[in-house]
Amino acid sequence: MTTKKRYERPIITKINAGVTDKFGMRPKMPIISKIEGVAITDIIAKYGSPAFVISEKTIRKTYNEAKRAFSTRYPNVQFAWSYKTNYLDAVCQIFHSEGAWAEVVSGFEYDKAIANGIPGNKILFNGPDKSKDDLIKAVENGAFIHLDHFDELYELLSIADTSKKRPKVAIRVNMDTGVYPLWDRFGFNYENGEAWNALNRIMLSEKMDLVGLHTHIGTYMMTPDPYAVAASKLAELAVRVDKKYNHKIKYIDMGGGFASKNTLKGAYLPGKDTCPSFDQYAEAITNALINSELDPNKMPTLFLETGRALIDDAGYLVGTVLANKRLSNGRRSMIVDVGVNMLFTSFWYEHEIYPVKEVSANAEDTTIYGPLCMNIDVIRDVIKFPLLQKDDNYVIKRIGAYNMTQWMQFITLRPNIVLIDINGNTHIIREKETNESLTSHERVPAYLK
Ligand SMILES: *Cc1c(COP(=O)(O)O)cnc(C)c1O
Repeated sequence: MTTKKRYERPIITKINAGVTDKFGMRPKMPIISKIEGVAITDIIAKYGSPAFVISEKTIRKTYNEAKRAFSTRYPNVQFAWSYKTNYLDAVCQIFHSEGAWAEVVSGFEYDKAIANGIPGNKILFNGPDKSKDDLIKAVENGAFIHLDHFDELYELLSIADTSKKRPKVAIRVNMDTGVYPLWDRFGFNYENGEAWNALNRIMLSEKMDLVGLHTHIGTYMMTPDPYAVAASKLAELAVRVDKKYNHKIKYIDMGGGFASKNTLKGAYLPGKDTCPSFDQYAEAITNALINSELDPNKMPTLFLETGRALIDDAGYLVGTVLANKRLSNGRRSMIVDVGVNMLFTSFWYEHEIYPVKEVSANAEDTTIYGPLCMNIDVIRDVIKFPLLQKDDNYVIKRIGAYNMTQWMQFITLRPNIVLIDINGNTHIIREKETNESLTSHERVPAYLK
């Protein structure tokens, strides 16, 4: 039996014979019907719509590409997984099983890493907000404490007075790398001498072990050059410490910030064509270190805290079209069941969205809205998109970074998160929220009952 085709309202488009747009003659919109061999319609049937989907295979592949880029160029390299980028335990465990340490920026994340079985001596503890209890715990566990400001340095010195263990510390350094606006709110500044002051205070106190130098120069860095500047400046500090105190820095931590292949809003070309490769970042950083005055017999370990570039490609959002309508200016709009509450990154990326089954070849400028009663709930301002009917499915690519941590509970409940393992089996790794799970945190005073 053949099913009757659904009616599609005709559209009139002007033909610009011979004129191509910046991407040339664009072929028909591709479709994505499967993720790692699993049909998207099956995922939605089983786990509901919308659903987040994570590919274990892509995580492992991307991690190994990054690791290879650095370890083929530099003798000792260690990645630490940036928890805030995606701290689902299953995701963290995949990175840890590949050998990544944990990079955390709060007491909550620190405890999560410990609960994931990561010993303190494989945790890098960053961020401006470490409570006194957090610091005491980190000292006892032998974690690497990356100092952010002098108040933290003084607090840790007083903890060191009574602690049996010597704190292991690095300082976070911010600096002019030629990229503006400067990220100078974290750590100690290089140019104004604060970083050098902090290093001297640590060394003169004789109460802590200065083990590393850390920087995190920005995020979504679209050129590798600033990393070369940053690596040279950290190497210079390490050499200066060695000259003055005869003390070798054990590691240089270049932080995160590599761009993922997403396209920034307003970008002229797609991110996958313009963003540097791991090889290009690695070339910039390792050349700067190798060509510095660092003692070649005792090169510090190179730490990387890469976040978004390691996980963005592994994440997908699958969902369902709720409705289509015409806006007052005649533009088509499509309402989908994923809003900015789930897809926080749609505020700065032009996320790629695709149909999951064959659709008509006629594409039209379309605005894609989420389901929220909020004017800013826009997934794509304008995209040439074929007509998807109500109840048709769609998939959004490259959403693995930050969405599953920065999402907000607003108007709708958060959906299931599904992992596709390397054998193509699916597992729920975070259950969808329910009214009960959410209200379990609420209390109504007796007099209001
Ligand atoms: C957020 C963060 C990272 C990860 O950054 P990406 O841009 O996602 O690679 C690494 N280190 C620190 C200190 C961070 O705050």
